[in-house]
Amino acid sequence: MTPVLPGATIGVLGAGQLGRMFAIAARRMGYRVHTFSPDTDTPTGQVADVEVTAPYEDLDAVRAFARAVSVVTFEFENVPAGTAAAAAERAPVRPGGHVLHTTQQRLREKEFLARAGLPVAPFVPVRSFAELEQAIDRLGTPAVLKQAAWGYDGKGQVWVDHPEEADAAWAVVGEAESVLEAAVAFEKEVSVVAVRGADGSFAHFGVIENEHEDQILDVSVSPADVPETLARQAVEIARAVMEALDVVGVLCVELFVAADGRLLVNELAPRPHNSGHLTFDACVTSQFEQQLRAVCGLPLGATERLRPAAMANLLGGLWREGEPDWAAACAFPDVKVHLYGKSEARPGRKMGHLVAMAPTSHLARQRVLAAREALARRRR
Ligand code: AMP
Repeated sequence: MTPVLPGATIGVLGAGQLGRMFAIAARRMGYRVHTFSPDTDTPTGQVADVEVTAPYEDLDAVRAFARAVSVVTFEFENVPAGTAAAAAERAPVRPGGHVLHTTQQRLREKEFLARAGLPVAPFVPVRSFAELEQAIDRLGTPAVLKQAAWGYDGKGQVWVDHPEEADAAWAVVGEAESVLEAAVAFEKEVSVVAVRGADGSFAHFGVIENEHEDQILDVSVSPADVPETLARQAVEIARAVMEALDVVGVLCVELFVAADGRLLVNELAPRPHNSGHLTFDACVTSQFEQQLRAVCGLPLGATERLRPAAMANLLGGLWREGEPDWAAACAFPDVKVHLYGKSEARPGRKMGHLVAMAPTSHLARQRVLAAREALARRRR
């Protein structure tokens, strides 16, 4: 494949913070960036050369967008399959539409993982209320019912703690096709952000440890506090996923570390991931630059971590009583402030994040939490 070299234009479908950080990495290397989404003044559009605003269903607009760029990538996996296919008529789309197809539907993703022999929590497909009752019978409670389509950050998910909750759970998922999953008594949650080049080369950022609040990622720490053998297994799972799916680009595998030390894959994200944001500050090559290199057919960069790091998300609730105290966070010299340029701070909305670097990951975690505290402190 002929590489797409600096000076060329990259198209990004989607225009959130992932596209923004990708665009920053791309522009730093001298590429131009066009972004496509239904919105205006988007996190990606603010730093792109061109912001195209049109519905994803406007396939003529998608084709025109793709014609103007050398390669198209996407920054979230819920871009409709038809949109990716229309773009592919005019420019290479990386990763390919087959990756979107598998990962944008939970059931398909789980079945792919199970077929590939990768470890997942026991699950049962649910297409009707009767099937939900049978699934609860089979898996027992507690269990999690997850809508098959369009889920992220715990949306379209509900815990079923007792069989009598089946009715209410079925309503939460909108009586739509879902997956019932056995509850995993996990010790911790981790992720592996990895990248695969067009030539099959592979690199990864090691194991990152994640903490969630209300099913939304809250804090990530690198390196994770896990045994070396487990870290190796986690990376091998990521490698196996990327080879089986034939991914070109970055992919994140989210895993549970079960109480007995076993790893179970929870989810795949075929793109840079929130848990990899800390690579922007802490690694020789960030996940965003790796995505750029992979989709452009360039050699991958070194993923070496310069210092242990921790990331804390800044959600909209932090703005409840006014603008956070940015100077207070900047008073931590090892903390980096990242903001996504979103004007409306709704509760639960990802507005930005902080990254702290320190001699150990434990210290980095403490510092990033202290800096986030400082943002809000004056309001007490
Ligand atoms: P997901 O959207 O599937 O990543 O789920 C969001 C969060 O819900 C996960 O990061 C876990 O903290 C929790 N969760 C999801 N599935 C399970 C499960 N089967 N057992 C225990 N916790 C889960």
